[in-house]
Amino acid sequence: MKDISKKIEALTLELAGIRSVVGTRGENDVAERIYTKFKEMSYFRRHPHRLQYIPAAGDPLGRKSVLATVKGEGGNSNKTLVLIGHIDTVGTSDYGMLEEYATRPLELAEKLREVELPEDVLRDLESGDYLFGRGVFDMKCGVAILMTIVESIAQDVASFDGNLVFAAVCDEEGNSAGMLSVVPELLRLREQEGFEYIALLDTDYSAPRFEGDKTRYIYVGTVGKLMPSFYVVGSEAHGGDPFKGLDPNHLSSAIMLEIDFNTRYCDEAEGEVTVPPISIRQQDLKQEYSVQTAKASYLYFNYGTHSSGPDEVLAKVMAGAETAFRKVIDSLNAEYEKYCLANGFPHEKLPWQARVISYAQLYEAVKAEKGEEVDRVLAALEEKLLADDSIDERIYALRMVETLHSMWSDQRPVVVAYFSPPYYPHVYVRGESELEKKLLDAVREVIANTDVPYDIQLKKFYPYISDLSYATAPQDVDALDSLRNNMPGFGKKYYLPLEAMQELNLPVVNIGPFGKDAHKFTERVEKNYSFVVAPKLVYDTIMKLLR
Ligand SMILES: [Zn+2]
Repeated sequence: MKDISKKIEALTLELAGIRSVVGTRGENDVAERIYTKFKEMSYFRRHPHRLQYIPAAGDPLGRKSVLATVKGEGGNSNKTLVLIGHIDTVGTSDYGMLEEYATRPLELAEKLREVELPEDVLRDLESGDYLFGRGVFDMKCGVAILMTIVESIAQDVASFDGNLVFAAVCDEEGNSAGMLSVVPELLRLREQEGFEYIALLDTDYSAPRFEGDKTRYIYVGTVGKLMPSFYVVGSEAHGGDPFKGLDPNHLSSAIMLEIDFNTRYCDEAEGEVTVPPISIRQQDLKQEYSVQTAKASYLYFNYGTHSSGPDEVLAKVMAGAETAFRKVIDSLNAEYEKYCLANGFPHEKLPWQARVISYAQLYEAVKAEKGEEVDRVLAALEEKLLADDSIDERIYALRMVETLHSMWSDQRPVVVAYFSPPYYPHVYVRGESELEKKLLDAVREVIANTDVPYDIQLKKFYPYISDLSYATAPQDVDALDSLRNNMPGFGKKYYLPLEAMQELNLPVVNIGPFGKDAHKFTERVEKNYSFVVAPKLVYDTIMKLLR
């Protein structure tokens, strides 16, 4: 495995040298390099049609993924393993003055010596055991591992029994447009080639889970992600007469306090617990300055799941928002009483009522009043929003909620709960089906038989969100209905091939390089584990699964 390690390291550097920030044309630069490298391999010179681009559906940037298929000739097994790696990275502005070196790892290591670094980073830098740079860890090293393994298997295809489908996908750090377009293609390929898919293997990064954690992790599953969102309608007032109104910022702050970092909202399965919800946005929707309080505000959260479906999460956060709403009203009443007393004014209870409804409930209420007109107005709005590429999925959803709410005769304060895109279903290998058992056995065996000075552990949930989510989808009708009916723009602006995902239905595993600080300018990959050990684990797992 020595020469493949060198090759993986060199390829990691080569791929990292191509800037491929998510949402830019640079993603295609790296896709084209990968395509070219495969094209030059003797196997793909013999079988050029087994190499193809998969365009990201409806992508204004024209981004694409690369799909390479290797069919073993050492037997007639239909067993096929799907391998995926993402080729995009997050942005590079976090490098500040060193930004131009972010994609030049060797020079970056020199430049980093000139800046102030945290102690552990400095230690790793001076040890020489790490490679620094944007994307080296997340996840060009992983892509290099898969490409190199596919190449070495393709070189000896005469003695290889089974098949590999490798997808180098774009837009993972954004909306997973790459993987979502690859899923239907995988089904088509299965049909065309008579493949029997047995698992989906990813090589995304894996990092220490706590300070000083030395364990290396393999994951047979991945965390899910939802974005519960709240459109908060208050009642405007003059700043000099605040008790006449209900401040939507006050209300959204109460929802923030209730949900943000609250471990009560963590989701659990198999003894593994998600991180608590964390806010991604909170702002009011007032355009101009004036001494008037805002009429509406909105906020949304990143919400990890291990076992709860969209319906359960929605119910939970709606209950939380209602608690928050009541607390605000109680506090307003208490403060108003004090204020009246201090001024010698007569005091009355304020008129507010805590009301939290879902987007689907709002739609029902407005539909009952306005009938077909609602659908006409929303359809016209959707057409307008879709024509404007500058409107992203989150703003699209917000505009839909705003407009729907504006058509309602009841304009009293209310919180409308809905989902903003994207949605990543959680998946994990329970060990129930034949394929799941096979995957678990294979990975356990590989770990047990690998003689390396690392503690390698098997966990259920890859914690950093990954494209593994799209290897399958929940079969639960209520859960999916709740998602469809409460995510404005679903199927129009935000495309999720739920039926294709359900049909693919593969157990998943992530065996990634080890390193630290993904998505930070101190991003780095540990060379020995990542270039020597992880590739061996990946290779052995592939061979074990196809045997
Ligand atoms: Zn990644």
